[in-house]
Amino acid sequence: MTNWNPRLVVDASEALAEEPDRATSSVDRPRVEAAVRELLAAIGDDPEREGVVETPRRVAEAYADLFAGLSIDPVSVLEPLPDERGTGLILVRDIQFASICEHHLLPFVGRAAVGYVPGADGRITGLSKLARVVEVLARRPQVQERLVRQVADALEAALAPSGVAVVVEAEHMCVTMRGVRKPGSTVVTTEFRGLFAGDAAARTEVLTLARTD
Ligand code: ZN
Repeated sequence: MTNWNPRLVVDASEALAEEPDRATSSVDRPRVEAAVRELLAAIGDDPEREGVVETPRRVAEAYADLFAGLSIDPVSVLEPLPDERGTGLILVRDIQFASICEHHLLPFVGRAAVGYVPGADGRITGLSKLARVVEVLARRPQVQERLVRQVADALEAALAPSGVAVVVEAEHMCVTMRGVRKPGSTVVTTEFRGLFAGDAAARTEVLTLARTD
């Protein structure tokens, strides 16, 4: 097998701190409210109906959170630790996230595992930052195929690691609500860079470590 020891594998629940982004969100809430009122009328509902009269405001607030990642640079999230160096594989798994599919504006919800092997200079970042970068990139109109690439791009830009592995598994409401496939079906996407790209055993080991069930 591979020679990554010592290796650090943690679950995201231990790593992710609460960092609300609503205050810095670039979402224009009055404009969202107007658009949702128009949307309600367009689908044939009455925007003044008691049950939905507050809906535009609620949607605008929800979107301020769900799309807050648009105004955050994912590389800035991955600040290297000044006094720490690493060599082995560092993997955070079971990073739960919710994102919005940009094709249908419906949620896709799942979990990610993000791992890397530090580069020649040993640069590492805090464990919570690996979960945080997934959250930042999930909180924007997204597709799952690009999400894994963007997480890997951010890690490469911030840390110059010798290898990056990103695994995402998610259920897409645009698939399961619209009867294309049966509910509960999931989509898996992966991105392997650097030493993982040319090493099937390393990829297999990461995929095994990424599983939490
Ligand atoms: Zn979709």
